[in-house]
Amino acid sequence: MKMSNMLISTLREVPAEAEIDSHKLMLRAGMIRKMASGIYNYMPLGLKALKKVEDIIREEMNDAGAQEFLASAVLPAELWQESGRWDVYGEEMFRLKDRNNRDFCLGPTHEEVFTDIARNEIKSYKQLPVNLYQIQTKYRDERRPRFGVMRSREFIMKDAYSFDKDQAGLDLSYNKMREAYIKIFNRCDIDAKPVEADSGAIGGSGSAEFMVKSEVGEDDVVFCSACDYAANIEKAPSTPEVSEKEDLKDLVKTETPNIRTIEELVKFFNTTEKKFAKTLIYNADGKVVAVMVRGDREVNEIKVSNALGGVVNLNMATTEEVLAATNAQVGFAGPINIKVDTLLVDEEVRNMYNFIVGANETGYHIENVNYGRDFEGIVGDYRNITEGEKCPSCGAKVNISRGTEVGHIFKLGTKYSEAMKATFIDENGKEKPFIMGCYGIGVTRTLASIIEQHNDENGIVWPLEVAPYHINVIPVNIKDEAQMEVASKIYEELKSIGVDVVLDDRNERAGVKFKDSELMGIPMRVTVGKKISDGEVEFKLRTAEMETIKIEDVVNRVKEEFNKNKLTIR
Ligand code: ATP
Ligand code: MG
Repeated sequence: MKMSNMLISTLREVPAEAEIDSHKLMLRAGMIRKMASGIYNYMPLGLKALKKVEDIIREEMNDAGAQEFLASAVLPAELWQESGRWDVYGEEMFRLKDRNNRDFCLGPTHEEVFTDIARNEIKSYKQLPVNLYQIQTKYRDERRPRFGVMRSREFIMKDAYSFDKDQAGLDLSYNKMREAYIKIFNRCDIDAKPVEADSGAIGGSGSAEFMVKSEVGEDDVVFCSACDYAANIEKAPSTPEVSEKEDLKDLVKTETPNIRTIEELVKFFNTTEKKFAKTLIYNADGKVVAVMVRGDREVNEIKVSNALGGVVNLNMATTEEVLAATNAQVGFAGPINIKVDTLLVDEEVRNMYNFIVGANETGYHIENVNYGRDFEGIVGDYRNITEGEKCPSCGAKVNISRGTEVGHIFKLGTKYSEAMKATFIDENGKEKPFIMGCYGIGVTRTLASIIEQHNDENGIVWPLEVAPYHINVIPVNIKDEAQMEVASKIYEELKSIGVDVVLDDRNERAGVKFKDSELMGIPMRVTVGKKISDGEVEFKLRTAEMETIKIEDVVNRVKEEFNKNKLTIR
């Protein structure tokens, strides 16, 4: 490609709306342009890089035995009604009506579609296993679209769905996808670790998220400091801290006027957060549920939902609901005589002695409360693990980092096949529901994550395999015929052997061309200038020192880089 023919949209200024490196650089390098909140257009350079990521994914998926498919993005409501998700998906779903007033949505994900395909096309166990995937545009009306294409409302996902005749088959399909994902993220040169994820109360039997560490990530990931254990905080089990044994004291009701928060209470009682148990009240699919955790702990809403058998909508109770349950204003809830459908008590609270809780009376708390003597509930793990706690696998200390999910693999089991009556005939002539798995990769998010992990003060630093162009040939002075001739020759030769090469034949100063080349992150650069009189040009890797090489050695030097990266030119 000749740059004089390209739409180049590099920006020198850092766009005000961008907060993170990848978003800034995608805008500055002219890869994307915003059209509306969370909705982006891909400019030629952005699309070229995106295609490289898609190609890697496609190759590895095909290699793992999956077959490409392409579904529509416009999906009829009926499919979603069958699975029961039409009513529960909520505001994230873009909904629309056709001219006949029929309901449709823009697909946020495609479990229903692929389940429908399988039930129509696969009749016998002999046709199994099948793994179908697509690379396709998804729509989610995110509450907070941000960070450019990291969390957008329209994005490209690779989604795959496997169909097996039994659990052993699913395990195999799942492991194949896990292996494929590891290869994909390695080839993209991003450090994405599989971490254990929640698979819901009825969801399935296994789930892993591929997480990249990132300060702006929206997930908390628990890593063991000693072993390989890694899990989303949603999933990681906590270990109750053991309280020192005390003799049980008598209950004391204490006036605590206007003192509601743990912080205020700690001051008032002149003690520590560990002496309190807080009682949080939720509306869980219409039922009122109270959850007790120690004063300094955070409730883990996923654990709570699972304990309740898979609650779909878990929200903090309204002031009215709190009043109905506790007979008091917000801030004075406690377990004694609370009127709720379910009281969940974190394991740690059961083991505490003589602690302080709300009195279910405005302006009062109760001291010296003890589980078993004063109240009872369903005891379990309902809180987030914290930094420094024991690793659930080996007992060493855990660390918690922020992360962004780039991929997700999930054993669905029969969740969709049962709801949608998607069955096949097994070896014994019996009708059975497909055992399913689903596997997603955020393609556009992966692209942004690559940039997030590969950049410097001058711009993007593409790993060779995903670089939109491998090399930029820059004649210093396009009016100099000899320079143009050498540059064109190098350009044509590289092009002929399948290297993605650009020739910067714009009538610009060399400095401008160098800056653009670095901003766009092109891994190799050949500068054709005055040294051609000695038969030489300058060769530079994006982040290395410049080398002076013979004109006739350029092609070999480029091939060497491909070899070093274990890549073949195609
Ligand atoms: P998140 O927790 O980040 O919202 P999710 O659990 O909703 O992700 P999945 O439904 O598992 O995501 O989707 C599969 C993949 O699609 C994710 O791993 C992620 O890489 C990508 N993805 C999800 N939502 C978005 C989005 N709004 N913008 C870009 N990529 C997304
Ligand atoms: Mg989401």
